Amino acid sequence: MPNVVNCKKCGALFIQNNKKELCDKCLEEQNKIISDMNSYVINSPEETIPVEKLLEKFQMNRKEFDNLYFAGKFVRVAKKLTIKCAKCGQEVLLDGSSNFLCNSCAKKLQNQI
Ligand SMILES: [Zn+2]
Ligand SMILES: [Zn+2]
Repeated sequence: MPNVVNCKKCGALFIQNNKKELCDKCLEEQNKIISDMNSYVINSPEETIPVEKLLEKFQMNRKEFDNLYFAGKFVRVAKKLTIKCAKCGQEVLLDGSSNFLCNSCAKKLQNQI
């Protein structure tokens, strides 16, 4: 039996395969935005770009970005993106930060466990 679900983005009904959460149309749009975001970061003359600035430019919310990031969509540009540490607010490189924490906060957290 095909599994019919609502698209997480536009609400349209579609037949789910591969556990997709978006309909084909939204998925296509999303892929386009992702590739635009990647080229924007790659082509930017700046050494690093804060994620906030990128999200503002492409009108994407942080939650959506996080999901896409963890799905491996921004691996190519993670070295050029900075993010505010979720604990202390310090700007850290996205690449190498674990769970969006700076090294010292990540260490502190580890010591607590
Ligand atoms: Zn949709
Ligand atoms: Zn921190």
